[in-house]
Amino acid sequence: MRTSYWTRKREPIIASDPGSPGRAGLARLFGQFFARHWPWYVGGTIAAVVTSLAGVAQGVLVKFVGDTLQYMMDPSALASESLVNRFGVPGVGLIFALTAAIVFAAIVRAGSLYTMTLSNNIGVQRSLVDVQQAQFDRLTRGDYSRLTAAASGDFVSRFINDTNAMREAGLRVANNLTKGIVTVIGAIISMLVIDWQLTLVLLIAYPIAFGPVIALGNSVRRRAKKAQQQVGEITSLLSEGFQSGRVVKAYGLEDYQSARMQAGFRQRAQLYLKVLADKAGVDPILEVTGGVAVAGILALSAWRMSQGGATLGDFLSIIVLVGIAAPEIRALGTLNAVAQEGGAAADRVFEVLQSSDTVKDDPDALPVGDVKGAISFEDVQFHYPDGSPALKGLSFSAEPGETIAIVGPSGAGKSTVFNLLLRLYDPASGTVSVDGKDVTRLVGGELRASMALVAQDAALFDDTIEANIRLGRMTAQTEEIHQAAVRADAFDFVQSLPGGFATPVGEQGRNLSGGQRQRIALARAILRDAPILLLDEATSALDADSEARVQKALLEFSKDRTTLIIAHRLSTVRNADKIIVMEDGRVVETGRHEELMVQGGTYARLAELQLN
Ligand code: ATP
Repeated sequence: MRTSYWTRKREPIIASDPGSPGRAGLARLFGQFFARHWPWYVGGTIAAVVTSLAGVAQGVLVKFVGDTLQYMMDPSALASESLVNRFGVPGVGLIFALTAAIVFAAIVRAGSLYTMTLSNNIGVQRSLVDVQQAQFDRLTRGDYSRLTAAASGDFVSRFINDTNAMREAGLRVANNLTKGIVTVIGAIISMLVIDWQLTLVLLIAYPIAFGPVIALGNSVRRRAKKAQQQVGEITSLLSEGFQSGRVVKAYGLEDYQSARMQAGFRQRAQLYLKVLADKAGVDPILEVTGGVAVAGILALSAWRMSQGGATLGDFLSIIVLVGIAAPEIRALGTLNAVAQEGGAAADRVFEVLQSSDTVKDDPDALPVGDVKGAISFEDVQFHYPDGSPALKGLSFSAEPGETIAIVGPSGAGKSTVFNLLLRLYDPASGTVSVDGKDVTRLVGGELRASMALVAQDAALFDDTIEANIRLGRMTAQTEEIHQAAVRADAFDFVQSLPGGFATPVGEQGRNLSGGQRQRIALARAILRDAPILLLDEATSALDADSEARVQKALLEFSKDRTTLIIAHRLSTVRNADKIIVMEDGRVVETGRHEELMVQGGTYARLAELQLN
């Protein structure tokens, strides 16, 4: 496949941990993301200047048409002198020539307008691809705790809303600023040359007439923004409603859901109506002010013509120039507010981009090297960023190749052990080490590459089964993928699917059963072929038959690698070299199954309960 700009792989734009947050977002946005695509904006700006000048030229050409008409009606009129000096004796031929020139200017204007819009859009879209990519990379590569701190829906809606605001601001600035300024200045200069008295009167009257329209426009935007936030809320309600469709049906929650949605839909409609009412107010005001403006210009021109101070051409030309400049003035009037919103969005984006990580590699982080798989926790204390204590002086160790089971009641801190081993968080005190090396001193990426995790949620991505398994080792051959599937007891069921390994698993693997998802996740971990295997309730959704088969395969597979197994079902951990019983963030018992049964402590009690 040919790689285009959109499919090309790019280097990260932002260093992983740049300076301090704050300061003007827009300036940074332009400096860091828009400036890289400058040729498109330069092209857009040149096209904007051409568009503006072609517009003004049309207005000026109209003057000569008007003056020629006036001459033809009355050759003794005031206009004749300048026309005769310029073009010889005016007549129908001149009018045709001038109208041809007006058409030509219109064509130039149309072409440059198209070029401007296209060029600026390409620039802005590319800049925003970079912004989104940088923001996403920062979130996925940075502290894991940042990802868990907010609801994922919040991230998504912020991502979308902020990108929209920046796109709007970028496009409006790129499209309107140069075109607006050049057109307005060009029109005013032309009008001043044509009839400065009339122009001065207009310059004073215009802001008075159009001020209210601009104010109304700003209020529309504020309301529209609120409406947009509300769209976010409705979106989460909707997706929640559809995702939990089964529970809704099973519990007969249709009425409850319907009422919640109805409130959301109604609020949205009300807000939308308010926005529309404001917008609807703009048009009548424009009608009236527009009518008054035309009448005013007509009256003033008539007065100026009667005084002999203006010609028919002057009057026609000023109407055309006002017509060209007026929309630009309106756009410039609202530009600041849109740019401010874009700036605020950019500020939020930079907050993410510039946030610093607490869990990060030391500048002199040690390479991990060949991992043998010795694991040790020494008096590890840890609480989550929200303050929940999870480990309270945990100590245990695993020799290379050992299989260690971690059991204990819910909330005891078992999954937290994996989180610290993967170095998603750093302990408050104590040491977590692999092969005797403190994990906080190692290169994080290499450390994680030495581990294969199967988590409680199978974490499948919306892609084919083969692609999901391949995530374990991107370079794997198809044959290796199939072997991993065999070991995870997944091969047969995958083959029986209509698409085989090419079957899409659906969002979060929803096309598969819970047990099937787990087997795919296991195949992925097996394919990874890492020296440390972390299984967090990895076979909990399998039926007894399948679990027995997988256990057998895992026993074989885990022979020469360190395996930590978290399991509630104690039948799955009987054969472990060591069982660690955790309670309230500490180890309360350690030993083999038989030893612990004899001790008659927590483990024996749990085992009794399960067996009976
Ligand atoms: P289970 O068997 O139910 O999976 P567990 O033994 O694996 O439980 P952990 O998930 O390690 O328990 O949780 C230990 C404690 O830390 C719990 O009190 C839990 O509420 C808390 N905890 C876990 N994850 C987070 C998090 N991301 N943020 C805040 N607190 C957390």
